[in-house]
Amino acid sequence: MDAPTLCTIGELLVEFVSHKKGCGLRTIADYSGPYPSGAPAIFLDQAARMGARTRMYGGLGEDGFGQLLRDRLDRDGVGTEGVENVPGRTTGTAFVSYYDDGRRDFIFHLANTAADGFSFDAGTLPDGDLVLHVSAASLGAAPLRHAIMRGVEAVLSRGGRITCDPNARPELLRDDAAREALEYVVARSWCLMPSTSDLGFLYPDLDESAAIDRLLDSSAEIVAVKRGAGGATLVGHGERHDLPGHAVTEIDPTGAGDGFCGTLVALLLQGRPLAEAGRLANAAGAIAVTRRGPMEGNSTPAEIEAFLASSLNPEGKSA
Ligand code: ATP
Ligand code: MG
Repeated sequence: MDAPTLCTIGELLVEFVSHKKGCGLRTIADYSGPYPSGAPAIFLDQAARMGARTRMYGGLGEDGFGQLLRDRLDRDGVGTEGVENVPGRTTGTAFVSYYDDGRRDFIFHLANTAADGFSFDAGTLPDGDLVLHVSAASLGAAPLRHAIMRGVEAVLSRGGRITCDPNARPELLRDDAAREALEYVVARSWCLMPSTSDLGFLYPDLDESAAIDRLLDSSAEIVAVKRGAGGATLVGHGERHDLPGHAVTEIDPTGAGDGFCGTLVALLLQGRPLAEAGRLANAAGAIAVTRRGPMEGNSTPAEIEAFLASSLNPEGKSA
């Protein structure tokens, strides 16, 4: 049987990254960008690089930023039939600045831009087996949430599967509609890829292993716990793989989670075993943090293999 088409619905934007730390976007500093960004786009770009057949649904302005994004997705083989040029709207933008302890400040301009102004028609989803990835931060914006939830219903009604990065940020969870949508998606996901802090937000009363068991008791067959510099844990029914993080110099951590998830899901859909898909995803996440720009950290299978060959921790089994 053909591999499924992996779809995302959500924000496309360009990001500007401050080179100065500790100023929280409050002072004049050098920035670089525009870097292609948007969690669903970073995820899908990485999945396409790993050989997945993909389809992105999102909106771009008819401007230079929009052209940059379209060129990047086309270059990397992402299916862009669902990427719409939205007349009269500009491309979404974001600005990010880091602190020395790893915290970051974002300013997003997404509301009333092309990023949340596209129309999604579930009837245009591709034929054949479907997998829809939900990047839960998108659920905080009502127009995106409505489009994504229509996509979730359409894919489930066709017997397709959902994957989800819960990205359960507190500012998202304060909104009841967003939280309900997140819980609905989490309960129906085949593969869930929370960070450790996402697990804490989803299940404040459970320890980590109880939270993982809870997820595996609903629809999830695979849970991947992302631990930043600490690596990742991959859990399926009857198997568990704890992978320590690779030693790298962190330049820009934004997008590592999306690159990890895109690698993992793309390889699982191509029938690769969980241990192997996880090993490559753990490497893809490590590579991602070494490059400035959220999508610039995405990598090819050859780059991942070369990284693993040169890493002090090539098997991802012991530090
Ligand atoms: P974000 O939401 O910011 O994109 P996330 O919280 O979803 O990120 P992280 O845990 O930060 O995800 O990163 C995903 C994966 O990338 C980790 O599980 C790990 O495999 C790898 N990774 C991230 N940061 C580092 C690091 N500093 N060193 C080595 N590997 C890293
Ligand atoms: Mg995350």
